[in-house]
Formats: sequence, structure tokens, C-alpha cells
Amino acid sequence: MDFLIATHNINKRDELQRILQPLGISVRTADELGVTLREVDETGATFEENAALKARGGCADSGLPCIADDSGLEVDALGGRPGVHTARYGGGEQDYEKKMALLLNELKDVPEGERTARFVSVICCTFPDGREFCVRGVCEGAIGLSVSGNGGFGFDPCFYVGGKSFADCTAAEKDAISHRGNALRALVNELPQYFSNEPLPAAETARYRA
Ligand code: IMP
Repeated sequence: MDFLIATHNINKRDELQRILQPLGISVRTADELGVTLREVDETGATFEENAALKARGGCADSGLPCIADDSGLEVDALGGRPGVHTARYGGGEQDYEKKMALLLNELKDVPEGERTARFVSVICCTFPDGREFCVRGVCEGAIGLSVSGNGGFGFDPCFYVGGKSFADCTAAEKDAISHRGNALRALVNELPQYFSNEPLPAAETARYRA
């Protein structure tokens, strides 16, 4: 069965394809399906609302079940900011050195024990018959006093779990604890009941179960 993923990011498509293939799902981008997706303004107040806006739009435009995600960083000392605005934090540009410098500067007077934060990832799946569900994955951590590591992307070098930044982790180490890993594990648990009575295959899928 074909599913649309509402992203142009091939890495996200490949990751999802790897995970959902054992369930008999083929994950396709809009480009691969020759479908033009409407522009969705991410105006939701929550990750769930934004993910659902994207999944509903993709489902309506393609006629296929559609999976979309929304994610971000919540910093407690900033009242949960940047939250749903994470992608636009510090302006639209993609220079994360500058964005992280801005974040560390915002937290310059916040002591170590009060720098708690979490990454959140919400994945929403909308079916053409109107059924819909969202799953949420969270990773609790803290914003460090400085950045560390060369791996990962985005805010990884300033987000620490157990003394190590996400950028210090290997991809497998990050997947095992990350918000996205946790959301994908929840997705794999949830999805089969929506389209199949078949038991879950083992192997790859088992890695993603909670
Ligand atoms: P989006 O949901 O893909 O638009 O992600 C929102 C923003 O959250 C990204 O642009 C990144 O800045 C940040 N973000 C989400 N997940 C991660 C992660 O795993 N590491 C670092 N930054 C992330």
C-alpha cells in the first residue's frame, strides 16, 4: 500500500520507508507520485495541529494515506520557547552556529540545574476516509553551557542527555533515545490496526517498538 510522506526531505522518506516496509507500506514523496502539494502554513499552536494540517493537506491532494511530522525544542527557562517556532528561531536562515549562539545567550544567566529542555516530535497520519491519529515522541535533556560534537544537525550540539550532546552521539545512539526515534516506535505500534489484521513482522520493525 502506498503512503505519501508530506516532505521533500529524501532522508526522512528513506528513514520512514526502512521502518514501514515490513508492514507492507511503500512511502512516496509528492515528487515521486507526481502530485503537487498545497503550501501549508504552520499556524498551529501545537506540534499535533501542525502535523495534522500537513497530513490532511497531503491526503486531500493525493487521495492517499499521508504521514507528516512536526518537531521542535522546548526550553523550560524560556517558557517552552521556541516550541512550534523552532524552525524559524533566530530567523529563517539555516546557520545553526548563530542560532545556537543566540539560544546560549538567552540562557546566559540560567544556572546549570535550570536549563532543562526537551525535543518533541509528533507524527500524524491521515487516511482518505477521514480517520486520523497522531503519535508523540519526547526526549528530555538540557541545554548545555556550550556546544559539543560534530554529528547530527540543527540544535544537536547544544542539547545534552546524560552528559553527552546529541552531536556527540552516533546516529544509532541518537535514534535509540531521540524524540523522533520514540515517535517512530509509537507509529509502528499504532499503524497496523488502521489497515491490517496481520501480525507485525519481526526484524526491522521490532527495533522501533516501544
Ligand atoms: P521540522 O519539524 O523538521 O520542521 O523541525 C523543526 C526544527 O526543530 C528543525 O528545523 C530543527 O531546528 C529542530 N529539530 C528538530 N529535530 C531536531 C533534532 O533531532 N536535532 C536538532 N534539531 C532538531
